[in-house]
Amino acid sequence: MNSTKPGKVYLVGSGPGDPELLTLKARRLIDEADVVVYDQLPGEQILSSIPEGTEKIDAGKYAGSHTLKQEQINQALVDKAKEGKKVVRLKGGDPYVFGRGGEEAQVLVSHGIKVEVVPGITSAIAAPAYAGIPVTHRDHASMVTFITGHEDPTKEDSALDWDTLARFGGTIVILMGVSMLPRNVSELLKHGKDPATPVALIERGTRPDQRTTVGTLDNIVKLAKERGVKAPAITIIGGVVTLHDELGEIK
Ligand code: SAH
Repeated sequence: MNSTKPGKVYLVGSGPGDPELLTLKARRLIDEADVVVYDQLPGEQILSSIPEGTEKIDAGKYAGSHTLKQEQINQALVDKAKEGKKVVRLKGGDPYVFGRGGEEAQVLVSHGIKVEVVPGITSAIAAPAYAGIPVTHRDHASMVTFITGHEDPTKEDSALDWDTLARFGGTIVILMGVSMLPRNVSELLKHGKDPATPVALIERGTRPDQRTTVGTLDNIVKLAKERGVKAPAITIIGGVVTLHDELGEIK
């Protein structure tokens, strides 16, 4: 191998977990890569399809704090690319929808490393779709917003404007929202959102063990607790959730 030729990092979206939702480009790059740096979000079915001879780096296994972990992942990407390797950084869903893909790209660019993004199907749309919930629908919502549910509640200037969100007439999709569900629901209610607003939680969307829990703003926290809802899950809030019964779940 020619180590003087600079390598390249492909920031590849794996889609939400169903291997058939991987793009053709993602499949080709995974099969051609020298190194695949991954975390657990793509799911077992996709991760087990990385070819045998490929060097695999489990980014989730890097020890230390969250920030340190991210720095180490960045460093691994930079080092491997500098060795002249073709590197796939495999990320769940779409690489630029939450999950710090944009930051990873910036670090690589700042080190003079070539980066190419390969968009993936985001769980924010696919998990609801597999649960029979279109994120928009002419009768229910002509707008949709994607928010992080994991924001630190002690942060002084919240990036989330709960007042606007409570008044928002479209669909609200929350990613990383399981641990903060009680806080997020109570913020929406406190700011005047109708307690009868339909809510669905979709765990492990598009995977064989996908599970959907449907309720309303005033009972979803209790339901989530009773059913032991765990990450990764999408929270979807709004009238479109009522279509779940009619359109049904893809299994
Ligand atoms: N880039 C990813 C999101 C990364 S943030 C994407 O586009 O899908 C991580 C969050 O994504 C999780 O906490 C969860 O809310 C959501 N998520 C990812 N895959 C999921 C899946 N298969 N089912 C449900 N939620 C999922």
